[in-house]
Amino acid sequence: MKILLNNTSLFESLRPFNDLGFVPTMGGIHKGHLSLINKSNKLCKKTIVSIFVNPKQFNNKKDLKSYPRNIKKDLKILKKSKKVDFVYLPTFKDIYKDKKKSKITLQKKDKILCAKFRKGHFEGVLDVMNKLTKIVKPKKIFMGEKDFQQLYLVKKELEKKYKTKVIPCKTIRDRDNVALSSRNLLLNKTNLITAAKIYETLVDIKKNTKNKKNIPSFLNLKKKELKNNYKIKIDYLELRNINNLKISSTKKNSRLFIAYYLNNVRLIDNL
Ligand code: AMP
Repeated sequence: MKILLNNTSLFESLRPFNDLGFVPTMGGIHKGHLSLINKSNKLCKKTIVSIFVNPKQFNNKKDLKSYPRNIKKDLKILKKSKKVDFVYLPTFKDIYKDKKKSKITLQKKDKILCAKFRKGHFEGVLDVMNKLTKIVKPKKIFMGEKDFQQLYLVKKELEKKYKTKVIPCKTIRDRDNVALSSRNLLLNKTNLITAAKIYETLVDIKKNTKNKKNIPSFLNLKKKELKNNYKIKIDYLELRNINNLKISSTKKNSRLFIAYYLNNVRLIDNL
């Protein structure tokens, strides 16, 4: 596993390879990330993982400051997996040195879910993904369905611009079905028990959308119940179509999306 600390070293090391699988991350490596790496390792000749906490996608300074960082531990886990050929640890300059102002604007129809509640977040994500793709030139990029809207927007953006494919990977959960996330490191045991209960409730809610005539009003009611029962703040609870992310009036081809705060930590999930 070769560690690439700057772009010069990256360009030199990657030159011979054109079947590259790329797993972009912000570190705090967990089994969710490892499942993306495994898939890349199976489908591509070489796998490169990046670790870069992109300040431009944080709409909240506190969130950026508290984001879990532990490069030493991350490298240890990645090395142990024996599935990673390169780890790219760019500096801010490596990514943003061409000061060209990016012209990323979301379409009105995409200003939903997290885009609505985290202003500028996806503009930051799409900007960094454009820059990383230009630098790494991967054949395939592996991204998790846990961040479904991110996957949806990045796929749409990158596949029209570059010769790369964005490959969706399923959500990995802990034994209590809580979706793995680097942010879970900021939760205590009680929070994790609550998160597991919320997951169970969401499964139930999704099941019950089946015979409902007015799903949005049913979900509104359930949102209030969740808020009261678990004392959480909820940004959204919506059933949306997986192909266009429009509000859905049927369970078919749809996922239930939620964003909520537990212990001041913003968590998202979809099922
Ligand atoms: P992050 O480090 O949180 O930016 O995530 C890097 C990549 O890992 C993104 O494509 C995420 O969607 C993916 N990922 C994060 N958590 C999970 C999970 N529990 N299961 C599958 N993929 C995940």
